[in-house]
Amino acid sequence: MTAANQTPVRIDNKRLAARLERLSQFTEPGKPWERTAFSDLHVSAREWLVEEMRVLGLETEIDAGGNLIGRLQGTSNGLGTLASGSHSDTVPSGGRFDGALGVIAALEVVSALRDAGHRLRHPFEVIDFLAEEPNQYGLSCIGSRAMAGELTPENLEFTAPDGTSLAEGIRRMGGNPDKLNAPLRTKGDIAGFVEIHIEQGRVLEDAAEDIGVVTGIVGITRIAVDIEGRADHSGATPMGLRKDALVAASLMIAAFDVQAHQDYYAPMVATVGKLDVHPNASNVVPGRVSFVLEIRAGQAATLERYHKWADWTIRTMAEERSLVARTRIIGQSEPVAMDTDIQLAISDAASASGYKYRSMPSGAGHDAAHVALIAPAGMIFIPCLDGRSHCPEEFSDSEQIARGVQSLVDTLIALDNRQ
Ligand SMILES: [Zn+2]
Repeated sequence: MTAANQTPVRIDNKRLAARLERLSQFTEPGKPWERTAFSDLHVSAREWLVEEMRVLGLETEIDAGGNLIGRLQGTSNGLGTLASGSHSDTVPSGGRFDGALGVIAALEVVSALRDAGHRLRHPFEVIDFLAEEPNQYGLSCIGSRAMAGELTPENLEFTAPDGTSLAEGIRRMGGNPDKLNAPLRTKGDIAGFVEIHIEQGRVLEDAAEDIGVVTGIVGITRIAVDIEGRADHSGATPMGLRKDALVAASLMIAAFDVQAHQDYYAPMVATVGKLDVHPNASNVVPGRVSFVLEIRAGQAATLERYHKWADWTIRTMAEERSLVARTRIIGQSEPVAMDTDIQLAISDAASASGYKYRSMPSGAGHDAAHVALIAPAGMIFIPCLDGRSHCPEEFSDSEQIARGVQSLVDTLIALDNRQ
């Protein structure tokens, strides 16, 4: 709620676009837009971000997890921090918006507050989390994991192809791996965190909606499946005598797809994106197939129900064909719910501006999923062209960005005004 005598806080879309453009210029020249974590370009981009933060009057620091933080003091003492941000690293040959938008939007929040002479009661932090994307150390969301105390001593020993450890990588970026044995923030330190991000899918664009209010970040179960049949001569072995592992795998994959289309209580997706055939020769009946079934869902119960069904289906279909199937879980993360008060604040902010919004889960992982372990967290999605992301074609137009960032500012002001 804005008091009658206060100037409304409006974002400046030109300034926002100019900063996004400037950040995108820190790219490998031959392969825009590439600014991978821990690279010299990433370091240079962060030096520019520090300068932008200082010009805005923020106190800057790099915490022990290598997160770059710009802090604005609040007018009241003893309140937790409100925070917003995302990540400035990209995937190889990635886009200009994934991560970058969230960091630049948080800077625009500070600029817009200054323009309007609006002081927040809470301190406010702009956060550029270290290395959200998968990188040479084989771990994503490094900075946000560090903040939540999730980085294990084993994680810190993960080694890049150049022989350096993750601990060394974090130190190079200004962090201190010796201090990562506990969460960097405890509960209550952060009163609310809101991250804005492009959707990276086609749901909002398809429905011609402006804002996605993220309800939670999906949990993921990855199951490695090995089907053992028998490799035989493709000409000399009649159909009735075959133990074809690939035919069985194909029927399973088709069944996974049909089942995932069924009406579940919560949205879920199932994918087989990796499959190896042995011996993989045109004149040999496939004797062995290995594939990975990945399941993502917003509810733990949905993940579990589908996982049990898939295990049963794999076993049954293999037995019917006298094949042997083995399954093992190779990756598992729990779904993380976004804070309901923050979801409400986002939808109120969007509807007050007349923007069309919907509640939706995030199918991709984000820093907010880790922050949610130590603080109330929320996410705003904006549409992106044809759902493209992690590629140079990634694009959101300036109107879509403006609606998202205005909703971000309004959400943060609403959280600031809460008693
Ligand atoms: Zn991202």
